Amino acid sequence: MRWLITFCSVVGLAFNLMAQEKSVLRAGAYAQDVTPKSFPISVNGGFVDRQIKAVDDPLHARCLVLDDGKMQVALVVVDNCLIPRELMDDAKKRAQKTTGIDPKNILISATHTHSAPSVTGAFGSAANKEYVEFLTEKIAEGIAKAQKNLTPARLGFGTIDEPNQVFNRRWKREVGLIPADPFGNTTDKVQMNPGHEVKGLLEPAGPTDPQISVLSVQTKDGKPLAILANYGLHYVGGNPNISADYFGAFADRLSQLIAPEQKSPVFVGIMSNGTSGDVNNINFAKGPLKRGPGEQIRIVADVVAKKVKEVYDKIEHKDNITLAVATKELSLKVRKPNKDEVERAKKILADESIKMGTKEKVYAQETVLLQDYPDEVKLILQAIRIGDVAIGAIPCEVFAEIGLEIKKKSPLKQTFVISLANGYNGYLPTPAQHALGGYETWRARSSYLEVKASEPITAGILELLEKVK
Ligand SMILES: [Zn+2]
Repeated sequence: MRWLITFCSVVGLAFNLMAQEKSVLRAGAYAQDVTPKSFPISVNGGFVDRQIKAVDDPLHARCLVLDDGKMQVALVVVDNCLIPRELMDDAKKRAQKTTGIDPKNILISATHTHSAPSVTGAFGSAANKEYVEFLTEKIAEGIAKAQKNLTPARLGFGTIDEPNQVFNRRWKREVGLIPADPFGNTTDKVQMNPGHEVKGLLEPAGPTDPQISVLSVQTKDGKPLAILANYGLHYVGGNPNISADYFGAFADRLSQLIAPEQKSPVFVGIMSNGTSGDVNNINFAKGPLKRGPGEQIRIVADVVAKKVKEVYDKIEHKDNITLAVATKELSLKVRKPNKDEVERAKKILADESIKMGTKEKVYAQETVLLQDYPDEVKLILQAIRIGDVAIGAIPCEVFAEIGLEIKKKSPLKQTFVISLANGYNGYLPTPAQHALGGYETWRARSSYLEVKASEPITAGILELLEKVK
C-alpha cells in the first residue's frame, strides 16, 4: 500500500510541477500600423464632415496578448474616434481564425482621437467602406503578430494621479445664459465647452478621475515589453490632419523614457481611454492657452508619460499570474423620437433658410435617422482579470462619475474601465446628468440609450467583476 501512496504522490508532484510550469505567464505585443493609404478621406468627430488629405502622425492598433498557460486574452487599442460593434466583432472572428483566441477574450477599444478615418455614421460623416475593411483586417493581423511575439513575461500594476490635465467640460451656468438646445428647448442647466471666462459660469457639473492606471509587462529578464495605461481624458485635439492625438504621442514619449535604444523586443506603449465622456483638457475657469498645431498634444503626452515612468519605476513585476474573462449582453431601450419630433425635424430639413451644418439642421437629421433605430439595442459588457487587476469594458463614452463608482465598488483590489470598448453605443451620462441636459444628452446617434442606462451597465460590470474575482 505504501508504494502506491508514494507512487501517487510522486505522480501528483509531477503534475503539480507541470501545472506550475504551464502557469508561467507569456506576453507578446505589436503596434500594427493602420494609417490610411488613400486620400482625401472622411474624418468624423465633428458636426460636419472633414475631408483630410495628409498625415500628421501614423495611426496604430496597439495589441497585447497575454497567456497564463490556460487561456489567452488580447487587448487592442485602436487610434480611431468611434468603432461600431460589427467591425470589432468581425475583427475578433478573423483573429480567432489565425490565433485560436476566443472572441470573448478579446477586448478592442477606440482611443477617441478625432483625427482618424470615419468607420461609422456620426453627424455629417459616413463610414468609409474601404477603410472599414482595411481596419478590420489590420486589427486581426495585429493580434496575430502580438501572439507570434509571445515570450515568457512578468507583470505588475500601479496607479498615479495627474489632476492637471483633466477638466469636467460640462458647466452649470446662470439661468437664461445657456442657449436653446437643438430641439428648441431652453431646459438645459449645463453647457458643454461654454467658452473661457464667459458670463455666469457657476461650477463644473461633475467630477474628473485624475488616476492613471498602469499595467506594465516585462520580459522574464526584466526588459520592458509593453505598458497599457488608462486615463480619463476625452482627447486633446489640435492636429489638423490624420493624427493619433495624445494617445500616439504618449506611446512615442513613453518609449523614449522607458526603452530608449531597445531593439528587441520592440516596446509598445498603449494609452486607453478611461471614463472621459464629460472630461476634456480645457480649463474654462481660465483664459485660453495659445498653442501651435499639435503643441498641446505633445505637452499632455509628455506630462502623462513622465507620470507613468514615475510609477513604472516602483512597480513590482510577477510571473505567477492568472487570467479570467466574463462577458454579458444587455438589452437597453432606445430614446426614440416621437411623431411630433420627427415632423418638426423634417420641417427643419426642408427649410432652406436654416444653414447646413448648424446644430438645428444636424440634430434634425439625427432625429430622422433615429426613428429607424430598433426599440431596443443589445450592448456588450466585458470584465477581464489580469492577476489581481481587473478591467471593465463599456461600449460608450462613459461619464467620469460612473468610472469612479465602479472603481470604488469593485470587488477587486485594482480596477479600471476602458470606454468605447467592443462597440459604440453613444454617450453614457447618469440619470442625474440627463436631467441637467447639455450636448452629451441631446438625442442623436451619439446619445440614444435610455435615460437610466448607466444603472444596468454599472450593475452589469460589477456583476462581471464579481465573476472574474
Ligand atoms: Zn466624444
